[in-house]
Amino acid sequence: MKKNFNLNYLIRENIKSIKPYSSARDEYKDITEGMVFIDANENPFNTNVNRYPDPQQTNVKARLSELKGISSNQILLGNGSDEVLDLIFRVFCEPKKDNIITLPPTYGMYDVLANLNAVENIEIELESDFQPNTDEILRAAHTHTKLLFLCSPNNPTANSFDAIKIEELINEFQGIVVIDEAYIDFSTKESWLSRLDEFPNLIITQTLSKAYGLAGIRLGICYASKDIISILNKIKPPYNINQLTQAKALDRLNDIDSVHNEVKSIIYEREKLSKALTSITFVQNVFPSDANFILAKVDDANQRYQQLIEKGIVVRNRTNQPLCENCLRFSVGTKEENEKLIQTLIQLS
Ligand SMILES: *Cc1c(COP(=O)(O)O)cnc(C)c1O
Repeated sequence: MKKNFNLNYLIRENIKSIKPYSSARDEYKDITEGMVFIDANENPFNTNVNRYPDPQQTNVKARLSELKGISSNQILLGNGSDEVLDLIFRVFCEPKKDNIITLPPTYGMYDVLANLNAVENIEIELESDFQPNTDEILRAAHTHTKLLFLCSPNNPTANSFDAIKIEELINEFQGIVVIDEAYIDFSTKESWLSRLDEFPNLIITQTLSKAYGLAGIRLGICYASKDIISILNKIKPPYNINQLTQAKALDRLNDIDSVHNEVKSIIYEREKLSKALTSITFVQNVFPSDANFILAKVDDANQRYQQLIEKGIVVRNRTNQPLCENCLRFSVGTKEENEKLIQTLIQLS
C-alpha cells in the first residue's frame, strides 16, 4: 500500500482549473426511439453513423469492467495507447520544466511524446539482463520527475520486469508510474490490474492492438484510480473513440473465447519459432519471450535484415538500440509464415 501520496501536487496548474468541453451528447446521450434529437447539428437522415458517438463509451467500458473486474470509473479509452499516453503527459508534465524517466531499449513512442510535449526524457538503460536498475532510477528522480514508464513485457526485449523491482519503484518513486501492458495477454506473469487499488500513483495501459487483433480500429485502454481517470476524462477530446471502433471493440470483447484461443495458438507458435531460431547457425542468442515477438541476436543484423527483405520477409532491425547490437525482432506470424521464415533462414545459412 502506497502512503503519503498527493495527486494534486503532481497535476499541472492549468489542468486543475480547466473546464471540459460540454458536448450535446454528454447532456443527453440515450438515443431512444421516438425522441427528437435536434441538439447537435447532425444530419437527421440515417446513415447508421449520422449521430455523434457516445463520448463516454459506456457499453465498451461496461464490458471491460466485467472482464477485468475494474469499475468503469477507473477506465479511460483512447484512440490507441498513443492517445492515452499523450493525455497522461498533458495532465502531469509542464513543458520545459518537468521530466520523465524511460528505460531503453523500450517502446519508441515514450520518447516521441516527450519531445512533442517539450518534456525532458531521462533515460536509464536496463541492466544486461534487461531488468530495471532500480537504484539508478530512484537516484535520477527528483521533484520535477513526474512519470516513470515501465513497459512490461518490454518491447523489444520481450521480457517481463521482476515484480519485486516494479513494486519497489511504485512504492519509492514520488511521481506516477505507468506500466505499459500492451503484451500482457502473452505473458504467464499476472497483470498489475489486480493490485491497482493498492497504488494511487499507478496507471496501467493496455490495448486491443495486439492480443485482440484490432490494431486497425485504434483502441487503447487506461486503468487507474477514479481520481486520475476523472482528470484524464476532463481533457480528452470529447468524441475520441468513433462509433465504428466502439461497435467493433464490443463485438470482439463479447467473443472473448476466440481471443483466448488465438493467444494460445500464438504462444504455441512462439515457442516453436524460438526453438527453430536456436538451430539456425548464424543466430547467436534467442531471448525468452513473454510477448508475441522474439528478439534474437544474429551475426550481422544489417546484412540479415537486407537478405530477408530480398526474400520478401520484413522483420524489425533493432541493432541501433542500446543492448540490442545485432538483434532482430520477429513478430510471431501464422504457422505458415513462421515456417517460411525458418526455411528462408536455413537457406541463408
Ligand atoms: C504496440 C504497442 C502499443 C500499442 O499501441 P496502440 O497505440 O494501442 O496500437 C503500446 N505499447 C507498446 C509497448 C507496444 O509495443
